Amino acid sequence: MEMLAGKTAMITGAASGIGLAIAKRFAREGAQVIISGRRQAQLQEAVREIGPGTLAIEGDVADPMHHAQAADEIATRFGGLDIYVANAGINTIRHSALVSEADYDAQFATNARGTFFGVQKMVTVMRDGGAIVLTGSIASEKVLDGHAVYAATKAAIGAFARSWAIELSERRIRVNVLSPGPTNTSILAKLGVPEEQRETFERAMASAIPLGRLGDPDELAQAALFLASDASHFVTGINLRVDGGMTIFDGSSKKKGPPVS
Ligand code: NAD
Repeated sequence: MEMLAGKTAMITGAASGIGLAIAKRFAREGAQVIISGRRQAQLQEAVREIGPGTLAIEGDVADPMHHAQAADEIATRFGGLDIYVANAGINTIRHSALVSEADYDAQFATNARGTFFGVQKMVTVMRDGGAIVLTGSIASEKVLDGHAVYAATKAAIGAFARSWAIELSERRIRVNVLSPGPTNTSILAKLGVPEEQRETFERAMASAIPLGRLGDPDELAQAALFLASDASHFVTGINLRVDGGMTIFDGSSKKKGPPVS
C-alpha cells in the first residue's frame, strides 16, 4: 500500500542528493510532490527523475519571499500542504580561525534562516495533522573538524524543532529532525577538500562509522518517509540520527574484542 497516498509534500533543496532521494521516494509512495531549488535546469532534470506531475518552484531558501510565494502557489494549486521537508543546506568546512564573515553568514542564511522562514510561511497553508521534517546533521551533537559554524546552524534547527513541536501540537502537526551522518551526495564535493585528498577523506570518514561505510541518500529517504508518514503518528520533537552509529562511536570501542573470561 502507498504510504503517502493523497498527501501533498514539499521538499526544499531537492534537485540533488538527499532531497532528491526523498522526493523520489515520496512520489513512489503516492504523494503529490513539490520540489524547490535555486537552479531551473537542475530542477527540471530532477522533475524528469521524480516523475510527471511534480511541481518545481525556483528560489533561494534564504529569502522569506520565496517561501511566501511558494506557499501561495501550493494553496492555489493543491488547497494546502501535508508534509514539509526543510532540507536545503550548505556546509563549508573551515577551522574557526579561517572562517570569514561571508562563510558564516552564508551557512546561517541557508541552513538556519532558510529553515525558520520556510516553516513560518508553510505552516500557514499546512493542514492540521501534517508533518514537518527538518534535515539536521550529526555535527550538531558531535565535534567534527572545521564544522563549528555548520554545527551551530544545525543546532539551531534542533532548537527550532523542539519549540515548533510544542507550538504546533494543538494543530497535531508533528515536527522532527532527521540527522544524517556522512552520506554519499554532491555536498561532499563542495566541502572544500582538495580533489586529491577526497579518497583519503572519505576513507577516514568511513572508518569513523561503526557500520563501516557512508550512508546512501535512499537510506535517508527511508527515514524521512517514516517521519513524514503515519508510521510515526505519535512521534514529535525527536532527532533521528541516520549515521551508521557515528555519533555514539568514540573511535576505540569497536576495536575491543569480546570479554575474555
Ligand atoms: P546536496 O548539495 O546534494 O543538496 C543540497 C541541496 O540544497 C542542493 O540541491 C542545493 O542546490 C540546495 N541549496 C543549497 N543552498 C540553497 C539555497 N540557498 N536555496 C535553495 N536551495 C539551496 O547535499 P545533501 O547531502 O543532499 O544535503 C542535503 C541536506 O543534508 C543538507 O541540509 C545538508 O546539510 C544535510 N546533511 C548532509 C550530509 C552529507 O554527508 N551528505 C550530512 C549531514 C547533513
